[in-house]
Amino acid sequence: MFERQRRTKILATLGPATDPPGVLEDLFRAGVNVVRLNFSHGDPSGQAKRAADVRAAAQRVGVEVGILADLPGPKIRIERFAEGKVHLKAGDRFDLIASTDAGPGDATQVGVSYLGLPQDVTAGDVLLLDDGLMQLQVVEVQGERIINTVLNDGPLSDRKGLNKQGGGLSLGALTERDKELIGIVAKIGVDFIAVSFCRNAQDMNDAREIAESHGCYAALVSKIERTEAIENLEEIVDASDVVMVARGDLGVEIGDAELPGLQKKIIKASLAQNKVVITATQMLQSMVESPIPTRAEVLDVANSVIDGTDAVMLSAETAAGAYPVKAVEAMARICLGAERQFQTETDFGASPRNLERADQAIAMATMFLSQHVGVRAIVAMTESGGTARYLSRFRASAPVFAVTRHDGARRQMALMRDVFPINFDSRGFTPREAARGSIRLLVEAGMLQAGDRVVFTSGEHMETHGATNTLRLLEVGEDGRASGLGDL
Ligand code: PGA
Ligand code: MN
Repeated sequence: MFERQRRTKILATLGPATDPPGVLEDLFRAGVNVVRLNFSHGDPSGQAKRAADVRAAAQRVGVEVGILADLPGPKIRIERFAEGKVHLKAGDRFDLIASTDAGPGDATQVGVSYLGLPQDVTAGDVLLLDDGLMQLQVVEVQGERIINTVLNDGPLSDRKGLNKQGGGLSLGALTERDKELIGIVAKIGVDFIAVSFCRNAQDMNDAREIAESHGCYAALVSKIERTEAIENLEEIVDASDVVMVARGDLGVEIGDAELPGLQKKIIKASLAQNKVVITATQMLQSMVESPIPTRAEVLDVANSVIDGTDAVMLSAETAAGAYPVKAVEAMARICLGAERQFQTETDFGASPRNLERADQAIAMATMFLSQHVGVRAIVAMTESGGTARYLSRFRASAPVFAVTRHDGARRQMALMRDVFPINFDSRGFTPREAARGSIRLLVEAGMLQAGDRVVFTSGEHMETHGATNTLRLLEVGEDGRASGLGDL
């Protein structure tokens, strides 16, 4: 029974396609675990309404759904054209004007909002607009004017994004707008905040400090999508709770050929530091218009699962696509198939021996037991979700039922592979009573049955963060009730 449940989590971006009544419920029934509110689009009050709708719909369906607020970050954009759009021809001259009063653009020039751009480019640099669909080569910088040669024929329209090939645009990651938005999303009460285009640990630390100054303890997501972030990967992962392989902008800055290697490297680096990792962008891109994915997309999603990602993300497929629910269904079935066909066994011989924290040591011992004694599940009492996170980093075969009364902790755990958050209030219980109570709950929900062995972990003192220091091997009794439990 429980082996068949999908372990890889699904993150879906909300947008106009998910706004009609009933769509959220359908998405949750199809398997969405966390939703993304993209603050690059739409106004904050519209996103706040979506957040409220998510909480209500999740309650109706009876599932734990986390909310991730994605900050716009310093995405550099061109300004508007008089006609909304121009067609450029390879070989033509086309200037970018870094000025607040450049006026509406035409086929010879357009304004750029980032005034520092002339200092960040030199002759020979290639600028990529609209995710690389339009390319310009810098010929010369004259004050605020950047003179370029167009490298390919094509359209260019209002407010398209601009990157430099190879990275190196030195705009800070947390813009004034981002800082303001952190206050707004703190009020909304989101579970995750994503920092776009972060460059180093400092960017993450700054975001955390601002969030905490608003009393917000959301998990912080670093989006790895620029060259500098790859150079500083280890320190960024260390400063993050969650890491996103943001393949869209990363592919533009570093080149698409680097993406497969970088995806594996980022996932590995995240797991090694006990962090949660998301693989994002264009996973089922053709489903924006088609009800079935391409074979290449099926393989991409499955390969991310095999790479070890915690979660896979949908962007335009759900936010603006014609088949948002079908996209989630496709993702769910592909993840399940990949998990079934490629079960991994943790190599404990390769695991660290010098464990510094009791809860990490207990997590490792738990996973060792679950693999070698053969248990149906791990039941972990947790306050903040930390124990569940350590447990799930081992990618063992048993599911982790993570038990907490804290709503926010359950919603953050919704993103962790192999983890199933369970609502249970253990206040005033001894560890033994908590074990009986939570296991009874799981039996009643049909998740455990008589004869199942489980590993149960908790702290001696309940209600304390990071205090897990106890591990017990238990068996569910014949009557299927906690009274049948006995220590082995
Ligand atoms: P975005 O981030 O969708 O906010 O651009 C993800 C990516 O760049 O892949
Ligand atoms: Mn991006």
